[in-house]
Amino acid sequence: MSEKRVTHRHDRAAIGRRFVYVVRSRRSGGLSVGINLDPQQTCNFDCVYCEVIDRRAIARHVGRPPILATEVVTELSTVLASLRGGTETPRDIAFAGDGEPSTFAGFLLLARDVFDTRDTAGLSGVPVILITNGSGLGRTEMREAHDLFAARGGFFWIKLDAGTEPFYRAVCRTSVPFGRVVANLTDAARRHPVVVQSMFFRSDAFGAPSAAEVEAWTDRLAGVVRDGGSLAAVHVYTVARETMETGVHPLSANALEAIARAARQVLHDVPVEIYP
Ligand code: SF4
Repeated sequence: MSEKRVTHRHDRAAIGRRFVYVVRSRRSGGLSVGINLDPQQTCNFDCVYCEVIDRRAIARHVGRPPILATEVVTELSTVLASLRGGTETPRDIAFAGDGEPSTFAGFLLLARDVFDTRDTAGLSGVPVILITNGSGLGRTEMREAHDLFAARGGFFWIKLDAGTEPFYRAVCRTSVPFGRVVANLTDAARRHPVVVQSMFFRSDAFGAPSAAEVEAWTDRLAGVVRDGGSLAAVHVYTVARETMETGVHPLSANALEAIARAARQVLHDVPVEIYP
């Protein structure tokens, strides 16, 4: 999933890197080092608001190239070395980018390498973040990865864009059942505190989320907490860049704030922030 950074894909290609890039991120409030595990831009979701270059066109190409952990680590070492001694320390290292990292077999080993590389670069205080749509978090490997992240200064940021199955289907257009995403989110939050990222927007096709949909979304969040999950924060976003599809428009700051207020009413001490 994605904090989408598609423009930086070109930057990687231009400087000969496939996986690692540096971006100024509104999410992190500073420099962020991104690790994009999927230069082919495949994803098991097809979100209406996705800002990735047309994955359906790319899917017509041959299959995924192998992800070479050594290549990722080499690129990361180079980038971190180039940032060391600069005026700005990165705010985080984020598995993000063009696809869905939680579906990658071998994620756990790669994540270990990333933490080691961060520490070797003298940046052990920089958190490592997994930005995910949650669909692959039920895999044993991802549960172990979550333990690793928690032990070494990392966090899972998990997407939840809907409160009901129909709205989820309209927004995320995936065959992954909504129930699985909610169950994975809940399980993860019971294991370690997680950040929830939610994207709201107005679509020419189905409008803005209704009051009932927002209430259903807050019910899901409250349900995670009721089931023993811990939410470190909830981030309420709207689209900020050009999306792949037309007819997708940002919500106003006031509309986002109204959504955040509804969440605060049920989540009490969980910070709920908006990103207009
Ligand atoms: S989860 Fe949605 S927004 Fe993220 S890469 Fe996949 S389709 Fe795009």
